[in-house]
Amino acid sequence: MTINGSGALGDGNGLHDEGDIVIVGGGIGGLSCALALHRAGIKAVVLEQSDTLRAWGAGITLWNNAFSVLDVLGLGDRFRSMYINLLAWETLNSRGEVLAKVEFADCEGGPHDLRAVDRKVILEVLAGELPEGTIRFSSGVIGIKKSESRTGITELELQDGSTYSAKVVLGFDGINSYVASWLGLPKPQPVGHIGIRGMAIFPEGHKLDYTVRLFVGKGCRAAYIPASPTNVSWFFVWNDSPEGTNGQQMSKAEAMQHASTSFPPTLLSSIIDNTPQEKFFKYAIRHRLNTNGPEPLVNGTVTVAGDAAHPCTPNMGQGGCMALEDGLILARKLHDALRPPPNTDQDMLKLPEHERIHRALVEFQYERHDRTNFISTRSYRIGRMIHTGWTVLDYFRDRFMIPLIVNKNKLLAHTLFDVGKLPGQSS
Ligand SMILES: Cc1cc2nc3c(=O)[nH]c(=O)nc-3n(C[C@H](O)[C@H](O)[C@H](O)COP(=O)(O)OP(=O)(O)OC[C@H]3O[C@@H](n4cnc5c(N)ncnc54)[C@H](O)[C@@H]3O)c2cc1C
Repeated sequence: MTINGSGALGDGNGLHDEGDIVIVGGGIGGLSCALALHRAGIKAVVLEQSDTLRAWGAGITLWNNAFSVLDVLGLGDRFRSMYINLLAWETLNSRGEVLAKVEFADCEGGPHDLRAVDRKVILEVLAGELPEGTIRFSSGVIGIKKSESRTGITELELQDGSTYSAKVVLGFDGINSYVASWLGLPKPQPVGHIGIRGMAIFPEGHKLDYTVRLFVGKGCRAAYIPASPTNVSWFFVWNDSPEGTNGQQMSKAEAMQHASTSFPPTLLSSIIDNTPQEKFFKYAIRHRLNTNGPEPLVNGTVTVAGDAAHPCTPNMGQGGCMALEDGLILARKLHDALRPPPNTDQDMLKLPEHERIHRALVEFQYERHDRTNFISTRSYRIGRMIHTGWTVLDYFRDRFMIPLIVNKNKLLAHTLFDVGKLPGQSS
């Protein structure tokens, strides 16, 4: 048992029916949705398969759009006080020559937020705001059964053999989503890139300026991003076959060796060296584009959001930010379906509740489709462009493509997204 969760319900074969809204997955998206619902006065239960908050992957960069969600949830300033605001972005080649640089102060729509945040801290802060018992750990969903009764009630089977009945099921269960496969969505496919990441700690201070530095090499890229005066988030991604890679570990010595052969003696090796972990988890980067439109993402009162809905390559650092956006927007839609505001259309009010919920979920998917598909597609293309692995193409990448993307008009444009407010908040 950890922050505001309870242990496994564990009465084996029992029926839990208190959950009107059940969120499958207690990651960034699921917790932000639960909190947005809570702020709007609606109770939800989060079923998380792990026995504690699952904070894999060290740091995550949160951009303007994530901060606008955190602001609506009343948490933005808490993160602003903990993490430094980055002031600029530099993309460099493997010799350390700057290919393009953007000072965020020169970009429209400021002041801007871009901060590397500890994943564990995000989860703990979100979970800490939820009422006691909202998160049910060790509660992996392994079966979904739609009710025959036309009430919209869905039965969920948990890993301990117990069942849950819910009016609404929101699958925020990540890239390997069970809910997405139940909906019949194709599995995310590997893009041919393998990565490792970590958070380095310099107890005496790292003394780096507040700039994101992304290095692009031959079929590889790496970045370091100061998170606080002592901590530096970093990642290293290279072209490789996903076969047998996912889940494997890489020792620190191997990682440093690999980084120093791809990039000349930059700070990167010393940053990896200052990372407390002795081994890094290698992950195969995967994605899926929802080419069949938004409809297949809903069945009755069951839907998916976050990575479960739009698994995306990390090339724009937007997967978690989009999961936060999803959580807030979905909570708003559900609020209006469950507690229709006074200006609701009379025909809508005559519908049974489960039909209103279904429509709200479909509306949510339509609203999100263009944005999430745009970011996922762009992110995939950026990855292809960076990771060509061909010297001639790399020449064009460095001379023309990078300056086209890393400029003051483009770099932050997609992060200036208005997520709106929650019911009852003034605009
Ligand atoms: C290398 C890398 C770097 C990234 N960098 C960034 C970045 O800088 N910025 C950014 O915004 N995004 C980044 N992302 C993307 C970001 O990590 C994800 O988009 C984000 O975590 C998605 O949140 P989520 O809540 O949808 O899913 P997750 O965070 O994956 O959470 C899913 C949760 O569901 C649980 N679960 C799974 N199956 C079940 C089940 N059957 N029953 C119950 N629980 C279940 C899991 O245990 C997990 O807790 C990066 C991703 C990678 C791989």
